[in-house]
Amino acid sequence: MRVITTNNKSNQEKKHYFQTSSLDARNMAKDSYVDWKFSGSEVAKETSIGTYTSKLFDLAVAEYLNRDIPVKLTADDVFMTVGCNQAIELAVDLLAKPKANVLLPSPGFPCDVVRSINKKFEVHKYNFIPENNYEINLESVRTQVDENTIAIFIINPHNPNGNTYSEAHLLQIACLARELGIMVVSDEVFRWTVFGSNPFVPMAKFSPIVPVITVGSISKGWTVPGSWRTGWVSLHDPDGVFKCTEVLSAAKEFFEINSKPPIVIQTALPTILKDTPKEFFDRRQSFLKDKADLAYSKLNVIPSLTCYMKPEACTFLWTQLDLSSFIDIKDDEDFCEKLAAQENLVLLPGVAFGLSDWARHSIDMDTPTLEDAFERLKSFCDRHSERPIPL
Ligand SMILES: *Cc1c(COP(=O)(O)O)cnc(C)c1O
Repeated sequence: MRVITTNNKSNQEKKHYFQTSSLDARNMAKDSYVDWKFSGSEVAKETSIGTYTSKLFDLAVAEYLNRDIPVKLTADDVFMTVGCNQAIELAVDLLAKPKANVLLPSPGFPCDVVRSINKKFEVHKYNFIPENNYEINLESVRTQVDENTIAIFIINPHNPNGNTYSEAHLLQIACLARELGIMVVSDEVFRWTVFGSNPFVPMAKFSPIVPVITVGSISKGWTVPGSWRTGWVSLHDPDGVFKCTEVLSAAKEFFEINSKPPIVIQTALPTILKDTPKEFFDRRQSFLKDKADLAYSKLNVIPSLTCYMKPEACTFLWTQLDLSSFIDIKDDEDFCEKLAAQENLVLLPGVAFGLSDWARHSIDMDTPTLEDAFERLKSFCDRHSERPIPL
């Protein structure tokens, strides 16, 4: 009869979930699933078939995304996936055709590259202007496009650059994509992890200008990655391009041969999206902003590392290594290996994001740990740097 107790949980008790961090979505998932499964609904009985998905859940995602976009989605435009990784896989799958190429960000998320190569896409890389808040270098987009390019992938907020695109910049991207005759795939998995001056604006706001495929998930916003992964692909297509080009039917085929997210989390998704109070995100964002300020100030006193912009989103600091200042460091991988071996501190080498001689530092930890990490980083860099010649 624990089910009944769960159903009767007061709002006060439910609010408690938001006092802690990563367990929140798990608790909500458990309760929503229990509520739903035992609600006597016909559809609930089908949960025993592990792969069941209901349009109810797709609709919940559509309704959530519809909050900020002019052309509304229906449940048919949304596909639930096993996290954002499978959403990327599906997006790539939908676009794949012989001899086509895609534009991917450099640096960017490795999964985009791996999936694209796996689908035999030719990958063209565009880059950024670090000095201009890491806006996309639109000139590099132009030079990389040819007649076989079908889409540009963007990541907003951007992992690892740590910025959020302004509405004006997104409009520029949309107009450029339209002019070049390509569509936009927008990875918005970090949309809830924004703490700078630019508010998050979904790319789909510009779907009247250019067709947009959005991929997202709850992994980062609710700190529930791993086996709790639940994400989605949404097709924003006012002109019906996807319908004409059989993208929709390809999506249905994809799920005939691929797994779907666990029903427990799908069931919870409407509650998670609808009922998470704003304070939950406010608290998380102010925690991360505090860490970004601290990390950025600590990095300023390490001359061999350059951070072009204080992070305004995500959970990382992205820095360029000045290799010429080191006596015995070959490249970013060498840097990260030696750092791990000598200081027990793990940074991800830039090469993992397709850009050598950069590194990504996580800032999502308590202040003493972060301070300790930066002390180790500084002493490592000092030790391996060329010392000034004494006069
Ligand atoms: C983490 C991440 C993903 C993968 O998300 P999951 O929901 O954990 O699969 C996709 N894209 C970017 C940019 C990410 O940082």
